[in-house]
Amino acid sequence: MRLATLINHGKEVAAIQLGDGFHALPYADVGAILRGNALGPQLEQSVVGLIGAPEAVRFAPLIARPGKIICVGLNYRSHSRELRMTEPKFPALFAKFANALIGAHDPIHMSSVTSALDWEAEMVVVVGSVRSPHTKEPPRAAIAGYTIGNDISARDLQQRTDQWLAGKTLDLSTPLGPVLVTAEEFGEFDPDLLIQSELNGEIVQEARTSDLVFTPTSLVDDVSRFCTLEPGDLIFTGTPSGVGAGRRPPRYLQDGDVLITRIETIGACRNTVVACA
Ligand code: MG
Repeated sequence: MRLATLINHGKEVAAIQLGDGFHALPYADVGAILRGNALGPQLEQSVVGLIGAPEAVRFAPLIARPGKIICVGLNYRSHSRELRMTEPKFPALFAKFANALIGAHDPIHMSSVTSALDWEAEMVVVVGSVRSPHTKEPPRAAIAGYTIGNDISARDLQQRTDQWLAGKTLDLSTPLGPVLVTAEEFGEFDPDLLIQSELNGEIVQEARTSDLVFTPTSLVDDVSRFCTLEPGDLIFTGTPSGVGAGRRPPRYLQDGDVLITRIETIGACRNTVVACA
């Protein structure tokens, strides 16, 4: 099942992708479907009308107001090798906030507070049910599915102290979408998918998600040992090698750049960088 949150007549609405395009569902966004425990085959019977073909619709952030956005640093083996670092024993976790999120085709706001804005293509786990430290079911039971994110990072703000937060949550910086592809579509809960970033037509990141040190199910397991996960929460699973800060000289995003973040089976976010005050 492929679900999206669209802007239709100026309002957010959840939608399901069927053969002829996206059809509206009676929910405000995909987060409302998950919080209402309504994910299931019966959703298809509740459609309330065609909104449009995939190329004609406007995507909102997939989850408009997630309760938590948890991110993982240094989670691809290739990226650890590139940085000559040993693989971490535990996932390096940090957070970002909902005001960072934008839709799959929205402009990335490049605030004048940074001069080192970088890209980080990531597979994002969408949590579908409550998982607390006391939950007995396996971690995979809490995964609704997967989407695409780009953990756009202001390296100068990220590195000004040893806490990364300031560089990771610029307003209107982080594409999320276009669709949630539910877990059963992949046949496995830690799917092996090609992930890429393309900047102005050049592939700058390319890896497979099987190179992750901590898989989606192990991240859900780890986080839920100390913090209850809830429907609509997001886990950005980390980025492979090829970011701008790793280049010599470093390369950062510029006004007008076009960044495509792509994961096979799910689709792509396509965002233009726009300088703003
Ligand atoms: Mg990241």
